[in-house]
Amino acid sequence: MGFLESLFSGARAFLREVVVPVLQVAKQVAIDTVRAVLEEIDRSEFGRAATRYIDGASRQYFNRAEDLAAEQREIAERARRDGKRSSRDDDRLREIDLERRRLREELEAAKAAEASAELKDAATQLVSAPVSDDETSAAVGILSSRVCPTCGGSMRIRQGGYNGTTRRRSFYWLCSAHPGACPTINFDPAKENLMALRKSDPNLDLPTKERREIWERKDVVRETQIRLRQHLGEKDDEVICPHHLLPMKLLEQPGNNGLLLTTYQYVCLHVDDDGRACQHRIPLETFPQVSETLRRSEGAGIIH
Ligand SMILES: [Zn+2]
Ligand SMILES: [Zn+2]
Repeated sequence: MGFLESLFSGARAFLREVVVPVLQVAKQVAIDTVRAVLEEIDRSEFGRAATRYIDGASRQYFNRAEDLAAEQREIAERARRDGKRSSRDDDRLREIDLERRRLREELEAAKAAEASAELKDAATQLVSAPVSDDETSAAVGILSSRVCPTCGGSMRIRQGGYNGTTRRRSFYWLCSAHPGACPTINFDPAKENLMALRKSDPNLDLPTKERREIWERKDVVRETQIRLRQHLGEKDDEVICPHHLLPMKLLEQPGNNGLLLTTYQYVCLHVDDDGRACQHRIPLETFPQVSETLRRSEGAGIIH
């Protein structure tokens, strides 16, 4: 089973080559799948490593990444003040880049180990479900351990536009190491035959029509906005800037219209080598994304 290629942080895994047919939803089948996957995790490198990691292992990597980002900002400020960057600072920026590459690998291993440990801890509450558009949208921007075939960096799922004809959104894998340079890979959940393993969540487990009707209800939208706005300015440890390797912040989009699905985004507040603001952004544009943001910060999604 090649599932560790797509093991997500936050106790969620997308599985390929599952031992049982995806469409069989009988409870016993789900339990058997969960058991098989947990045994697989135990045998895997990540599963064995999990016992060595304590909860929140990624914290130490974030501390190191904070130091590097602060140094990068200092170098940019010095260059602006002096009118040019010294060759010593040029060298240091190259070292920072190399150090980030090592740090990225370590952070990804720590995140995968944390996810393995979380999945094992939650074993009795896990469900498996076919990977749908909503399931995919809920995982947008989250670190995964899928590897970029071009450079070997990790990839994450991103979301494209909504197609009015198919009434579906497009998804693709984007390389985190070289987001502009490496080719993206299309991802169509309907064609992938993947299964998600995660804790049960009414926002993904209720029938599609039913949950959409609840999400779109006026009183629910209003309550969701109020809940979401309480987290403005907070960092999300699962949504990490691929360049700076630091948690991104939930903020309002500039010039927004105040509507739930066009107003919020994750932003990186660090600067590039030239002192310009980092351009990595993850807009919140779907109910499953908003629901996941709430679930990560409050323990329950839109429907709770
Ligand atoms: Zn790449
Ligand atoms: Zn950044």
